[in-house]
Amino acid sequence: MDKKDLLYTGKAKAVYSTDDPNLVIIHYNDDATAGNGEKHDVIDNKGILNNQITTIIYQALNEAGIATHYRETLNEREQLCEKVEIIPLEVIVRNRIAGSMAKRLGIEEGTLPPNVIYELCYKNDALGDPLINDDHAVTLGAASYEELDVVYEMTDKINQTLDNLFADCSIILVDFKIEFGRNAQGNIVLADEISPDTCRLWDADTQEKLDKDRFRRDLGGLTNAYQDVLERLQAWSEMA
Ligand code: ADP
Ligand code: UDP
Repeated sequence: MDKKDLLYTGKAKAVYSTDDPNLVIIHYNDDATAGNGEKHDVIDNKGILNNQITTIIYQALNEAGIATHYRETLNEREQLCEKVEIIPLEVIVRNRIAGSMAKRLGIEEGTLPPNVIYELCYKNDALGDPLINDDHAVTLGAASYEELDVVYEMTDKINQTLDNLFADCSIILVDFKIEFGRNAQGNIVLADEISPDTCRLWDADTQEKLDKDRFRRDLGGLTNAYQDVLERLQAWSEMA
């Protein structure tokens, strides 16, 4: 499958058209950004690690019967995926409280909430991806209530699958962000990457951060942490 036109360049990936109008090639680069692009760096091999990590996670989700955009991994930086119209919502799942929620509500990081917390952000860089609710999402025309029902049902299944998968790797899935899109048939499928760039992952024994907080908080050791996550997932997928 050949790459044709560059359709979109984002902060960490580029999307290309292919010979097939229903398929795109997603290329993972090494850029790291935080704070809506205010902090930027290039971290050697991050794209290669995230491509491999996302591959294992999407293979597990496809096997669990979740409809996703993922088709196959083409090389160390590229995946072939179903082309979708991205729903401009970031769906955030919090199994533990951390990051912006801890800060905004004055709750200690790591606190276990009584139930899983779901948030929506409007995917709009100019507005800084603001936190919104379901009514806002419908008012903005991002999704219908019926589509949101599907999104939440899929999100719950994705969280259960990922929480179990990471637990098998001695990793706590603290929180994560996912995106959905509409495919050519109008069906909602999971899209975009799932990697330590989009999840908070803590070592279950030491609570060490194995995710992008190493970059956001200037902790160093990002590549080693992502490599560690990849090796644990590889060992898991060989056992599965
Ligand atoms: P951002 O746009 O936030 O800077 P990236 O650098 O990750 O993010 O760019 C990748 C873009 O590709 C994202 O906007 C994402 O929504 C979009 N995308 C992911 N999967 C697909 C897909 N299957 N079809 C079309 N677009 C996709
Ligand atoms: N997240 C993401 N992209 C975003 C915002 C958040 O992937 O644009 C992920 C982030 O990595 C974390 C979760 O969503 O795993 C919750 O992020 P939070 O709201 O705490 O925001 P942050 O700390 O990134 O400001």
